Amino acid sequence: MQPLPFRNPFAPCLWGFLLICLEAVSFAGGFRVGFAQADITPPIGWRRAGGYTELISTGVNDPLMTKAMVVQEGATTFAFVGNDLCSVPRDLTDLARTRASQITGIPVANIVITATHTHGGPEYLGPLRQFLHQRAMKANNGSDPHEPIDYRGQLIERWAGVIATAWSNREAALLEVVIPRLEGVAFNRRYWMKDGSVGWNPRKGDTNLFRAAGPVDTDFPFLFARRAGGTEALGSLALFAMHTAVYGGPAFGADFPGHLQTNFAASFGSRFVSIFGEGCAGDVNHLNPLSLDPQPWITVSPAIGRAMAQVALTNLPWASAIKPGSFAVRSTVVLAPVTPISYTELDAAKKVMETLDQNGAAFLVLVDAWRKIFRKHFWERHDGQLPQEVQVVRFDADTALVTLPHEVFTELGIAIKAGSPFRRTMVVTLANDLDFYIPTRRAFEEGNYEPTTCPLEPGCGERLVAAAVKLLNELKP
Ligand SMILES: [Zn+2]
Repeated sequence: MQPLPFRNPFAPCLWGFLLICLEAVSFAGGFRVGFAQADITPPIGWRRAGGYTELISTGVNDPLMTKAMVVQEGATTFAFVGNDLCSVPRDLTDLARTRASQITGIPVANIVITATHTHGGPEYLGPLRQFLHQRAMKANNGSDPHEPIDYRGQLIERWAGVIATAWSNREAALLEVVIPRLEGVAFNRRYWMKDGSVGWNPRKGDTNLFRAAGPVDTDFPFLFARRAGGTEALGSLALFAMHTAVYGGPAFGADFPGHLQTNFAASFGSRFVSIFGEGCAGDVNHLNPLSLDPQPWITVSPAIGRAMAQVALTNLPWASAIKPGSFAVRSTVVLAPVTPISYTELDAAKKVMETLDQNGAAFLVLVDAWRKIFRKHFWERHDGQLPQEVQVVRFDADTALVTLPHEVFTELGIAIKAGSPFRRTMVVTLANDLDFYIPTRRAFEEGNYEPTTCPLEPGCGERLVAAAVKLLNELKP
């Protein structure tokens, strides 16, 4: 080791003192970030989500996790929770957010609980679960062999717990953000067909295919946290507008977000927490109908996780540091009119659900029945005006995150980014509430699967866009 040219005996102390002062200046107003995760895999034999029939889980392909990131700067704290679940219902997220707020002091409005939308998660909410659960209870003297625990109750505890742990894990951290492109993985699944109709998930090589009826969004926002003053990576939040519906096994599975975690752990160590959130992907998935190549989930799901990790790592050197000083969270509630439903329609819908396995109902008839039961629920509970929460986080003068409930069409996400004054606007969906679709007005006219799931009136998507863009503009410094 080379001797120091200036041999002042006090120099090391002085340097140490200066470094401490510099660190105090840099991080007194800097970010404090904490991560945590917990297992939320239900018992094997619990019903599987992601379909309109009864699917029973046969094992655990990879564990389902709940993961939290808490970011604090000064008096502002924000918590993001990602879950390997198909969807999260409002009644549970409300309770968990309130509980987490009581423990940590983070305002309820500054907490978001999202689902990755993995179709390898459990069925634990909604009309289909309700019907299957009641049928099992009737057949088994009041007990449902597929629901041996109070999963919903345990989820509330795990969500509040994981937020509290991330909150207590906070430490001085540097936040960086980069938005590279992830090309060739996502495809719009609505197609104009040569006969003039709009198809949904068309067969590979269908000769009636004309062209995709909507865009894809190849932005791949990647928010990365490392320990201040060191290089140790703490965790990340990655967002992408593509359905987490690649995994197709009978066991529980986290799909490509699980593989993303595995790839990051190989680079950053096993304590690294990788959170994934689905962008506006209501009409986008991984299937390319224009290619005849088979896309088996068993290879495609890990390949997408690998590709995501590779794109994130390749672009990390070009990430911008998020500048402390303007961290803020604001939210609003949009009231979405729910289409009214008559008792006759409701009775017919219930009959379709109750004879699920025998009635041979066409897929869209079943989906419509599912939606009508939600309509009745929303009329009873919210008097026909479903409250939809929109949150905006301003990380710095150039970077904002928007959270939206449900499964929002890609075109609407692109519209939010186009209307945002922030150079980097990230949008996450399936936040705080259920997994029905929010199509564009045009898609409501075109029809088919996604509009058939939506219990709301056309225009619901455009209203969410307007609310998000308004908040973004109010928050632009
Ligand atoms: Zn979906």
